[in-house]
Amino acid sequence: MENIVYLDEIDIKNKTLLIRVDFNVPLDQNGNITDDTRIRSVLPTINYCLDEDAKVVLISHMGRPKGQKVPGLSLLVVAKRLSRLLDKDVKFVNDCMGELAENIVKSASYGDIILLENLRFYSEETKNDEEFGKKLASLCDVYINDAFATAHRSHASNVAVTRYVKTCAAGFLVRKELNYFTRAVENPMKPFVAIVGGAKVSGKIEVLSNLADKIDKLIIGGAMSNTFLKALGNDVGNSLAEDEMIEYARKTLVKIKEKGIKLYLPVDVVVADRFAPDAETKVTTVQEIPRGWMALDIGPATVTLFTEAIQNAKTIVWNGPMGVFEYDAFSRGTFALVSSVANAYALTIVGGGDTDVALHRAGEFAKMSYVSTGGGAFLELLEGKKLPGIEALIDCSKKHNLNK
Ligand code: AMP
Repeated sequence: MENIVYLDEIDIKNKTLLIRVDFNVPLDQNGNITDDTRIRSVLPTINYCLDEDAKVVLISHMGRPKGQKVPGLSLLVVAKRLSRLLDKDVKFVNDCMGELAENIVKSASYGDIILLENLRFYSEETKNDEEFGKKLASLCDVYINDAFATAHRSHASNVAVTRYVKTCAAGFLVRKELNYFTRAVENPMKPFVAIVGGAKVSGKIEVLSNLADKIDKLIIGGAMSNTFLKALGNDVGNSLAEDEMIEYARKTLVKIKEKGIKLYLPVDVVVADRFAPDAETKVTTVQEIPRGWMALDIGPATVTLFTEAIQNAKTIVWNGPMGVFEYDAFSRGTFALVSSVANAYALTIVGGGDTDVALHRAGEFAKMSYVSTGGGAFLELLEGKKLPGIEALIDCSKKHNLNK
């Protein structure tokens, strides 16, 4: 990623900066923010820009209003939280473009900070509309993208906009995400262990094939492992498995063996008589899943096995839970593995899906080397894909000869 120009490599003094951030924070039924990690994670970028006497104009989306002005998805609540975190007035504009936004941006002073209303109140945003991007670009001298969690999308505020600005750069959160990713996946210290879980093999085919050339060990848990267990001839009862993926799983097993990768699958599971938090449960070996029952978590012997397998790891990348951790009865396997990974003497990178939620619940968030803020974007990096939001920055810098 050496072609990316970063915020601290360009001149921003007394410039108006348009900064795309990802303030898509979770809200409760009353509209209160339940987790402000995404706001906190861009504070280094915002503070740096304010210290450099730039005029900071923030843009973001929130939820999926689908081109409508949905009051419950207004960014006003974020402006208030940001103001508290910065201990500074944050001007909120209830439109992300038009005369009102233009006037407020124009009349603000250097060192001021403005947050514009939800970009997705306009359907042009998700359509990557050129005109919309051009209007956003007209608000600034310099465009900064620090919205890593949205970087896998081609939207007007992270792609089209870059075609109408002469100076584009990435913020510090994007740098941190890309640096950790490079250290973990492109230049890993070995042994390199990948832990993959979650619902479906089909959603992670590309992750498995991309990682197959890099890893030393592969640990598979969650419903994904049922398809692999089936491919090995086990009867998994009513467990969630993808029959149409069994052939793929078989081929993957052969490929993994050829490459000398050590594979770890569950040896025991927590089974339930139905998919419910109060279902009847018991622990069985994977060979003895009772007919009509379903595996909803990994069992204690599997936790021990997986924990042993990561003992000598120097790099661990984890995506996807080991079971239905949303229900207490099936959360133990995921939480126990969280604690094993947290205590490993390794660079530990976690991201994608709900894995970060599990870390928060297990209270081990801070013990990981890095937890990605971008679920989908992190997954696409693991799949070996390029992120449109990052490519657009590189193209902009190339076009205006800003490359390093
Ligand atoms: P993903 O988005 O693919 O990472 O999948 C995450 C979801 O997989 C979570 O909501 C889990 O509840 C679900 N999951 C994990 N293990 C199982 C399982 N054994 N059976 C059914 N669902 C599972």
